[in-house]
Amino acid sequence: MASIFSRIVAGEIPSWKVAEDERYYAFLDINPLAEGHTLVIPKKEVDYIFDLDAETYAGLWQFAGRVAKAVREAVPCKRVGVAVLGMEVPHAHIHLVPLQSEADLDFRKEKKQLSPERFAEIAAAIAAAFNKQ
Ligand code: AMP
Repeated sequence: MASIFSRIVAGEIPSWKVAEDERYYAFLDINPLAEGHTLVIPKKEVDYIFDLDAETYAGLWQFAGRVAKAVREAVPCKRVGVAVLGMEVPHAHIHLVPLQSEADLDFRKEKKQLSPERFAEIAAAIAAAFNKQ
């Protein structure tokens, strides 16, 4: 069965998309640690990030770097933090989290509650920054 992220890529499940190319897709995390928390995935469905073939793996990080620049431009933050967990969704993904401090990358803390309008606003701002690169 396709992963929830493959179903997002296929358009079967909605997402707050921020960037896409032929091989990669980036969208807002629905339970964000901070405004602008973004997930970057390969469209190719592989569970564990370190099982990706070398080309897809390298391309994923390159694409994530471009998305991180757009996140930083669109969302006020000191840095964009990076995490790879994969404890919940078995489809390789990179978390990009706008940081004001180290504590913002604590996945045990309570997630932000955002309105659909706010998600849409943030996604549009990141997408605009990405598209003008
Ligand atoms: P992990 O697999 O541990 O890296 O966690 C999966 C992440 O995906 C969590 O931060 C979830 O909030 C996020 N997530 C799960 N389903 C969705 C979805 N449909 N849209 C956006 N983010 C999701």
